[in-house]
Amino acid sequence: MTKKPLLAPNIAPLPPRRPSRAEAEDAVRTLLAWAGDDPARPGLIDTPARVADAYGEYFSGYRADAAAELATTFEETAGYDDIVLLKDIRFESHCEHHIAPFAGIAHVAYMPSGRIVGLSKLARVVEIFARRLQTQEALTSEVAATIMTALAPQGVAVMMSAEHTCMSARGVRQPHVTTVTSRFLGRFESETALRDRFMMMVHAPR
Ligand SMILES: [Zn+2]
Repeated sequence: MTKKPLLAPNIAPLPPRRPSRAEAEDAVRTLLAWAGDDPARPGLIDTPARVADAYGEYFSGYRADAAAELATTFEETAGYDDIVLLKDIRFESHCEHHIAPFAGIAHVAYMPSGRIVGLSKLARVVEIFARRLQTQEALTSEVAATIMTALAPQGVAVMMSAEHTCMSARGVRQPHVTTVTSRFLGRFESETALRDRFMMMVHAPR
């Protein structure tokens, strides 16, 4: 087991001053009134507090360090240097344009180079970046770049498919549209055959 120095990718820092809890709840009251309702009516009286709590969960990724999750690695691999794939990692995120939820699954693969990482840590990296305001494109890139930087493996492949409520519930109102994004780094980027194997493994039945 070795500790690797952290090389955090370029991630937006917290805003300089975090508003107080009371300010956040006031902002929710303003939005409720803006929507056309009365924030003082009984059904809505506790909503600002609940929304503040919910934001704490939805956006807990701002207070977590994805690279730190990958700092502990294992060198006892018995020479294993082939694709390690985690399929169907469920994630929930929010689009940075409308704060509308989008949810889907991620497939994350890497080819180790002498050391491996705990499997749950890869899923944790997806979760940390998903629990921030995102675009699916940026989310896909950030997960791939973080694993590539932290583990220095032979390659990383990330594929995500998600449904965006900002498309289904508003705007063009297209339900059941799936957005698919992928990011290939290292050997997955340079070798078509490896990308093909990744795709085959992703689509193979369990
Ligand atoms: Zn949106």
